[in-house]
Amino acid sequence: MTYVRKVRYLVRMTMRTVKQPPQNANLSGLLAWARKLRPNHKMRLRRMLACMDMRGLIKQNNQMTYALTTEREREANLLRQKNRRLFMKLGLIKKGDSDLHIHHKNGNAFDNRLENLTVVDGKKHRQEHRRFDADAQCTRLIHLLKRAAPPKR
Ligand SMILES: [Zn+2]
Repeated sequence: MTYVRKVRYLVRMTMRTVKQPPQNANLSGLLAWARKLRPNHKMRLRRMLACMDMRGLIKQNNQMTYALTTEREREANLLRQKNRRLFMKLGLIKKGDSDLHIHHKNGNAFDNRLENLTVVDGKKHRQEHRRFDADAQCTRLIHLLKRAAPPKR
């Protein structure tokens, strides 16, 4: 199945209340549809796609990830970059040190007081957040998809 068809199927199965993507949409049509989603739906779909990617069910598409990033998350990403520059200035991380992440202790990406920030190992950090954000939804999604899959003949 193509990427577009997989996403359409996923949306039909798990986001029934959302206006569905056009029947014969190609990738750019699908992206246009995704950009118009409400922020909570954007986040949900993005997480589901990330989860499916982790399980090898679909391949992440950067354009789609971008289309599904909300304004608020873009702001948070800018703040992250700012924090990184500050931490470099303070000598807590080095330039190009992508193995080290800056973590928000209280989980609020908009709380950038120095006491809320800490340097952590990037790999562990990613795993931690996956556990928090995606796991419950991912498990539920896989369950839904299995149930929804048409019976084999
Ligand atoms: Zn974190």
